[in-house]
Amino acid sequence: MTFGDHLSDRVEQVPPSGIRRFFELAEEVDDVISLGVGEPDFSAPWAARTAAIDSLERGKTSYTSNRGMRELREAISERVTRYGQEYDPENEIIVTTGASEAVDLAFRAFVDAGDVVAIPQPSYISYTPGAIFAGGEPLPVPTHAEDEFKLTPEALEAAGADEADVLVLCYPNNPTGAVMTDEELADVADFVREHDLLVLSDEIYADLRYEDDHASIATHPGMRERTIVFNGFSKAYAMTGLRLGYAMGPPEAIDAMNKVHQYAMLSAPTTAQYAALEALRSCDDAVEEMRTEYDRRRRFVLARFDEMGLDCFEAKGAFYVFPEAPDGDDEAFAEGLLEEQNVALVPGSVFGAGGEGHLRVSYATSMRELREAMNRIEAYVSE
Ligand code: PMP
Repeated sequence: MTFGDHLSDRVEQVPPSGIRRFFELAEEVDDVISLGVGEPDFSAPWAARTAAIDSLERGKTSYTSNRGMRELREAISERVTRYGQEYDPENEIIVTTGASEAVDLAFRAFVDAGDVVAIPQPSYISYTPGAIFAGGEPLPVPTHAEDEFKLTPEALEAAGADEADVLVLCYPNNPTGAVMTDEELADVADFVREHDLLVLSDEIYADLRYEDDHASIATHPGMRERTIVFNGFSKAYAMTGLRLGYAMGPPEAIDAMNKVHQYAMLSAPTTAQYAALEALRSCDDAVEEMRTEYDRRRRFVLARFDEMGLDCFEAKGAFYVFPEAPDGDDEAFAEGLLEEQNVALVPGSVFGAGGEGHLRVSYATSMRELREAMNRIEAYVSE
């Protein structure tokens, strides 16, 4: 018997990651400018790093309580009131190893074999595998460029999501940069209540919006009890490597997730919890500086694409724009651009239905590199 002969059906069912294949191609090319990665080019704010160092000097190297340090849950509870969310630090918040763990816990706690998980696409690449690992059946719900990749009740209806058990939402969105307003979410909330779905709402880019305030479906009437909200420190606080996130929801939901978490993870990293606590206490200005810089880059990239004649809707959140590939073939464009101009972008089709013919461009990279990358893209487009 070998492990290779004994892969679980769930693992076999998940296809190899398209994004990984593309990064492997990019690694073979020298002098690459990568607009491919989904992580901040900044370091975590200094105060957060100092708090982590200080906690180590004070010998804070033990587990914390399963749900995370009480002070941190209190600070999170206080923080999210700015999005109109009210969660009790005692029993409605759990601190996790990145938002990734929180999403995985929710799949494992609420998805049974055969449950249908509706996933609006193009989508962050982890939801479909996460649903499959839990035994669920992913149902792609294509969204469209003409709707600026927002989710509509019509798109849900067309995909058959009225039969689903769980709906995953991610706004501001990775990979499109789409955001949804409160009114647009109200329409989705109507659909959710009418068809009695549960919602997993990944709001990790809540602080990276460039026009409107963040809107959360959980704040709509009748939605709090059927929604879990995910958030974390990776994006707004540039803390990807510290691996800290959280989930919020009704007590019975957080209890169930904690039941999985306490055996799978025990507790989220302690050093990172100290960094996160300080981030919430004193790093608003640092976040605002990063947000302002992302916005400057976003407008620069959109303007350059416009000059080149590349169609691109105005992405208003996260740090991605999602232009159309000029000849409609995203894979060929991305591969050609990499080979001839050493610029790495991600073909939209790796993000699922609706992504074909588009390119994900991350502007979480320096203005100097972005300028050079835009010149190279222009040269490639005009060939
Ligand atoms: N959700 C989305 C939409 C993301 O883009 C990412 C990171 N790429 C995550 C979750 C994972 O975040 P974390 O680092 O907190 O696990």
